[in-house]
Order: sequence, then C-alpha cells, then structure tokens
Amino acid sequence: MPVPLLDLKAQHATIRDSVVAAMLKVVDDQAFILGEPVERLERAVGALSHTAHAIGCANGTDALLLALRALDVGRDDEVITTPFTFFATAGTIHNVGARAVFVDIDPATFNIRPDAVGVAITPRTKAVTAVDLFGQMAPIEQVMTAARGLPVIEDAAQSIGARRQVGGTWRMAGELATIGTFSFFPSKNLGGYGDGGMIVTQDDALATRLKRLRVHGGAKQYFHDEVGYNSRLDALQAAVLDAKLPHLAQWSAARRRNAAWYDQALAGVPEIVRPAIDPANESIYNQYTLRADRRDALQAHLKAKGIGTSIYYPLPLHLQPCFAYLGYRAGQCPEAERAAQEVLSLPVYPELTEAQLAEVASAVRGFYGR
Ligand SMILES: *Cc1c(COP(=O)(O)O)cnc(C)c1O
Repeated sequence: MPVPLLDLKAQHATIRDSVVAAMLKVVDDQAFILGEPVERLERAVGALSHTAHAIGCANGTDALLLALRALDVGRDDEVITTPFTFFATAGTIHNVGARAVFVDIDPATFNIRPDAVGVAITPRTKAVTAVDLFGQMAPIEQVMTAARGLPVIEDAAQSIGARRQVGGTWRMAGELATIGTFSFFPSKNLGGYGDGGMIVTQDDALATRLKRLRVHGGAKQYFHDEVGYNSRLDALQAAVLDAKLPHLAQWSAARRRNAAWYDQALAGVPEIVRPAIDPANESIYNQYTLRADRRDALQAHLKAKGIGTSIYYPLPLHLQPCFAYLGYRAGQCPEAERAAQEVLSLPVYPELTEAQLAEVASAVRGFYGR
C-alpha cells in the first residue's frame, strides 16, 4: 500500500462542499482583493492566536519580510536566527539588506537555543527571528528574555494552533512574540488552495504599519508614506481558509494521535530517535521528524515500498552557497549540521489510516531488522 508524505485530496474530500460553496460566493461577488472574506479570516486567526491584530498577506515569506520592515530592520543591521529552518526565515533578512547571524539549535527539539541568542547580541542586533519548527513552539518566552528588549519575530509558518505553557498559562503560537507570522502554503497544517500568509501582533502601531506596508506603503490610496509591497491575501484564499479553520483543532488532534501511534510502534528501534516535544509544549506535528541511523538508506528503503518521506532540511542555512559572503564554516553550528545529516520526516497528515501507519512503522522496523 503506497503511503504518500501528504495527501491533500484525502482532506479535500472531507470538506469539498463547504469550501467550494465559499469559493463560489467570492466568484459571484467578484470582489477578489482583501475585503470582507479577508477581514473575517483575520478576526478568526486573531482569536485563535490570542492577538489583538491579524493582517493577511500574500504568503509566509512576505509575512516575514513585512515584519522585518515594520520593525525598521535594514541595511547593516543584524538579525539573530536559526540555521535549521526553511530558507525564507533567513532569505527575508538578506532581502531587507540586513545580515543573518546564525546560532545553533537544541538537539532535542531542533529549535533555536535561547542562551545562544543571548551570546550573539551585538550593538548592531536589531531583532531575533525564532522558528516554531515542525509544529512545536520555540521557547519563545526564553528567547524574549535573552533578546533583552529587542523585538522577536516568531516564524510560526509550520505551527498555527500550537501552544505552550508559560507560567501556568497556555500561550498560542504568535501570541507572545513582538510579531508572529503564519503561512497557508498548501502543505502546511492549515493550507489554502494557493499561496497565503498572515501576520499577528498585539501592538497597535505595528499593526497599522503592517497594513500600510502590504499596500505599497500608502495608508491612503495613491499617497505613499513609505515604499511598501503588493502583498495582499486573496479573498478566494481567505474564503477557503475560513471554511477550513473550524476543522483545524480536530486535524491537529489527529496529527498528535498519529505521532503517538508512531512513538509507540517505533519505541523498540534503537537506531531511531523519535521526536522530542518539550514538556511545556503541545505540538501540532506539522512534521513527524526523527533521527535515523543510515538515514539515506532508510529513505531509499521506504521509497521502494511506496512510502513518501522528506528531509527537512538537508543543508543548514549558514552553509548555503548564497550565504558564503557571511563567512560561516562547517563546525560553527554543529547541532544544526548533525541534524541535517540525520533527520527524516514520516507521513503524519490527519487522514492517515491505521493500516497506513502500520505500513510505515513496519517498513521502518523491517529496515533495521527489528
Ligand atoms: C513555509 C515556510 C515559510 C514560507 O512560507 P511561504 O508561504 O511558502 O512563503 C517560512 N518559514 C518557514 C519555517 C516555513 O516552513
């Protein structure tokens, strides 16, 4: 039985009528840019994230770009971030003219280490971008303490709906940071039917600035206070996402059930390190990422059996050719480098059947003769 890494058609089949009806309404209204569907989704995401403001934009990369611009990060500034993440986390830092400063990760959670953030601060540091990788939040309150008052961007592109207990209270992804960013790329845990993104903040002035930046920097049309972007969320995407959002909690619970199933089924395989979730966190398991002995051979073995996997991420960002100008060498972020050699993500999407889970687990066990 083939088991794809992700099966978008399986999810679509369960929500087709409501999503198609929502899309048809936008088509019939012929109002495609921003407007009521986007405002409705913004209110819903703000409520989910416990934030005063939510601002739709074109994608998760632009959400980071707009966040950096709203914080006035620019030429010659430094932004501290993790090298073990999707490219956009650092690409956007470069694209506003700033320098990415990479610090190493916690080998258990793959998330940025707050103590490493503290050590990397210089007079040029303008912000910190932490990432909630694979569906579990970075220790955001510790990153904020380590940042000593500098703004913190929380790249929650993989983690909408994830939460973390801080001082006895559950805090949502995006809630505590200066600015939180989400992606609705189709493969994310809340995916649109195309590109989409959202920015959340508790800060009124930042929200006003972000809304202006997404429409070419003009609060009033044709009058420009600064140079911004064309980065709006489509009404069609907003309608799709608004129809999907009520299902998110149940999808996240299904991902956690699948992860718990693997945890049990793979417990007797010493060649595998199962994902570690910080006890303060509730992950939404955007990915179920393990460390595997002979990782590449395991991946080939699974592929031969029709099981989809992926390596997030094979080359840490401090060693990417495009960042050679920053002067990093191998060995400077050893845990990120080791993770890149060892990680493998298994299918964990909500619609997986128990038979499919069993197929994946037995193929992994079989590879190691367990
Ligand atoms: C997907 C992703 C992004 C970018 O989102 P897009 O919507 O594809 O632009 C940024 N950061 C992380 C960590 C991501 O996983």
